[in-house]
Amino acid sequence: MCMVTLSDVWQTHQNNGVKMTYGHTDKDQSWAAKALCATESPDALFVQGAAQRQVRSRCLACPVRLECLADALQSEANFGVWGGLTERERRAMLRYYTTVTDWREWIMDSDDPLAEELRTPKIPRVLARTRR
Ligand code: SF4
Repeated sequence: MCMVTLSDVWQTHQNNGVKMTYGHTDKDQSWAAKALCATESPDALFVQGAAQRQVRSRCLACPVRLECLADALQSEANFGVWGGLTERERRAMLRYYTTVTDWREWIMDSDDPLAEELRTPKIPRVLARTRR
């Protein structure tokens, strides 16, 4: 049985700038204060399986979606919806883009088709684009 509660995960999420390390860099993580989900029930985001695809649509309206996703990829957060992507989608990205060392830079600046897609307010085709 998992000993990490939803509250634990949410606390980590809310305190992103304090608790999460960002690899070897010292990135600004003040974005967490603008998180759309900061005023919502944590249970709404930390769901499992197919329910993640339903709740992630709310992330599309979040003003810090890309920053949230970058931090989740950088820290390999493996539970819940982050930046509009499900656990499965984030795992697929980490497996596929093995040479990326700075996810924020990649998401914001890369001309990779998936990075460009992520920058638009639509559900990205992560699994299709990371299929080998
Ligand atoms: S993108 Fe989604 S999970 Fe991330 S801060 Fe915004 S609402 Fe929360």
